Amino acid sequence: MLCLGIESTAHTFACSVIKQSRPKFYPNILSDVRDTFRAPEGSGIHPREAARHHASVAIDVLKKSLELSRINFKDLDLIAYSAGPGLGPCLRIGAVIARSISSFYNIKLIPINHALGHIELGMSLTKSKDSLVLLVSGGHTMILVFNNSSWRVVGETLDITLGQLLDQFGRHLGLASPCGAEIERLAHKSSKNYIALPYTIKGNDVTLSGILSAAKRLISTNRYPVEDICYSIQQTAFAMITEAVERALSATEKKELLLVGGVSANKELSHMLNLACQRHKVKFNSCPISFAGDNGAQIAWTAILSYLKTRNSIDISESFVNQSWRVDSVNVTWRRN
Ligand code: AMP
Ligand code: MG
Repeated sequence: MLCLGIESTAHTFACSVIKQSRPKFYPNILSDVRDTFRAPEGSGIHPREAARHHASVAIDVLKKSLELSRINFKDLDLIAYSAGPGLGPCLRIGAVIARSISSFYNIKLIPINHALGHIELGMSLTKSKDSLVLLVSGGHTMILVFNNSSWRVVGETLDITLGQLLDQFGRHLGLASPCGAEIERLAHKSSKNYIALPYTIKGNDVTLSGILSAAKRLISTNRYPVEDICYSIQQTAFAMITEAVERALSATEKKELLLVGGVSANKELSHMLNLACQRHKVKFNSCPISFAGDNGAQIAWTAILSYLKTRNSIDISESFVNQSWRVDSVNVTWRRN
């Protein structure tokens, strides 16, 4: 079975082809091609401009993905697209391309929840079985556990996501979004002088916007090196997330933790979570960095898992995008409790 996955929720337009051949039940990723919109320095992702970027690179990304996979459209069994959550104009580009190919070549069409894609590809690549999942990305900061046919949210941000905290602070410094990797580099260069920032955790939920406002105020005082402020942001936000994860581990008694999403590339975050897992005697898995951020493979693979279990696809007339599609509303038929 061959599936093309199209991802276009935010900054990245990506296509990937995955081949599924039983009995080896593991994603055989034939191609993974991406093109990421870079906003001008100091500004964020404007949905219309990102969508324009996606439309202009889509054909090249698609062609390259098929060439690398050494297939053509007629070989495909399934075509999957990221249907949400995400930025409306960006989602529509991916959906239009998926619908067009589906209708022209008569290929089954499958809409996939983007957050579910992060989780399911991470679970399969790390061979995780029954994990507590921490999803940290531009669009999500969530702690999830699988129960009774869906991924339940047992903790999340009450305001901005971890990715937004890093990106918005980076933009304040005049960097180009996404800024997480650059903030990590600056924090690493710091003299590790910790400056206290608001530490707000409510049960398993966190609020991160207070850190952003306080850090911006610190910049305006000109009293601290930028590197120390970046270091303090990371230490505060990551400690809050780690505390919430530890509580969730205690409550759920899971023996594995899986870290997924673009922010999982951060070494300090992994280090803190790893130490927490050691304290709880829990196995720590992290999605391989090359598949931590948004990509088409997560969409293709989740569609394969879904189709193999249900044989469900949708008619073009029923196809949709949903900017605020919650992952906990998706019925996950292929996974057992
Ligand atoms: P995603 O939405 O899953 O593609 O993740 C994108 C987010 O990951 C953006 O907010 C980036 O700033 C963030 N990110 C990427 N690399 C790093 C890193 N090394 N440290 C922290 N955040 C990162
Ligand atoms: Mg994402």
